[in-house]
Amino acid sequence: MRIRIHRGTKEIGGTCIEMEAQGKRIALDVGLPLDAPDDPEEHKSLLPRVPGFREPDESLLGVLISHPHMDHYGLAKYIRPDVPVYIGEAAHRIMKAASAYFPDGSSFTAPHFIADRTPVEIGPFRVTPFLVDHSAFDAYSLLVEADGKRVFYSGDFRAHGRKSALFEAMVARPPKDIDVLLMEGTTIGRTGSAEGFATEKELEQEFVQTFKGTKGIHFVWTSSQNIDRIVTIFRAAKRTGRVLIVDLYTAVVLEATGRDSIPQASWPEVRLYTPFSQVLAIKKKELFQDLGRHKVNRVFPEHLPDLASRAVMLFRPMARNDKGVESVLDGAGFTYSMWEGYLKEKGSIRVIKWLEGHGIPRCTIHTSGHASVADLKRLAAALAPRTLVPIHSFETGRFGEFFENVFRRDDGQWWEV
Ligand SMILES: [Zn+2]
Repeated sequence: MRIRIHRGTKEIGGTCIEMEAQGKRIALDVGLPLDAPDDPEEHKSLLPRVPGFREPDESLLGVLISHPHMDHYGLAKYIRPDVPVYIGEAAHRIMKAASAYFPDGSSFTAPHFIADRTPVEIGPFRVTPFLVDHSAFDAYSLLVEADGKRVFYSGDFRAHGRKSALFEAMVARPPKDIDVLLMEGTTIGRTGSAEGFATEKELEQEFVQTFKGTKGIHFVWTSSQNIDRIVTIFRAAKRTGRVLIVDLYTAVVLEATGRDSIPQASWPEVRLYTPFSQVLAIKKKELFQDLGRHKVNRVFPEHLPDLASRAVMLFRPMARNDKGVESVLDGAGFTYSMWEGYLKEKGSIRVIKWLEGHGIPRCTIHTSGHASVADLKRLAAALAPRTLVPIHSFETGRFGEFFENVFRRDDGQWWEV
């Protein structure tokens, strides 16, 4: 078996790995690079030069997407539609549900679904997905076997989220005889990675204290697709006697998880509020069916003042100039709950200015979606690969400080397993 990494040997995001055995090939992930231009028109040219992506090539048997984060699937929509795509079923449902609300929230037509510890045969390849703890829902590591070799691709993972039991099960009973481990190292070199990160349970406690200390409504800005975080916020809201107010986009994403253990817009502790700009979008895109399914606990601008001191609202930047939101800014609090790096973006700066303009205090409560160095070490030790190839990190040159048998590769370079 041969492998080449098209993107990721020296960067986070844009991940794409090509594997070849017996003249047949598969690709793992086709992500959008983090430094891609804002203009989607320019993205197509970033598609990696994998034969079969652009022109017909029958030796390309399929593409597997490890999880629904843009930096892992964002370029997949430019691949010829006859190339089979494999992805988790819930992951696909979430992407499909979100696609009506975001211009770049693409989905795939007729994908093949992968499931935890259920091998799929793709020509000479046998691929076994392992569900992992990550900030994206329905995320997998992938064990690829061919030509008597075994390659384990970690995908993105962590051990301090709400699904940490998955990580513990993996290190307790790891797949054996791994020739190559392709392991992410997102957090290497980042603040806190060496010491270990706060768990989602610890965050829940922080949110409880913060909500208690807020007189009026408390806004939390996070990704609606970070389901672990939404659960954390929901639980903290409930513990402080507050309802969680979500918008329609969040409601459809929560529904798309397909899990009745995850908060839903129909739950008594949840409310649906559609900011005016979303009302316009609902009309324009005819999202009336989504609204119809989720309107049972809907509240309107006139309800917000009464509800404010008993509510946590998931913040959407588009809601800044909404009449209902503007009416509840007295005594409001605001928590930022995403990677701090995004705060440098133009949209975030506008939000910060808006908060400052209204005198709303801001704090950050967040933990990484990726494993700490200690947990990366635990996975590497458990899998004990013959070689460990760094991927998905800006610090791949530092892997040798932490792990055994590290063999760094270059983008585009084939190597024999
Ligand atoms: Zn990810």
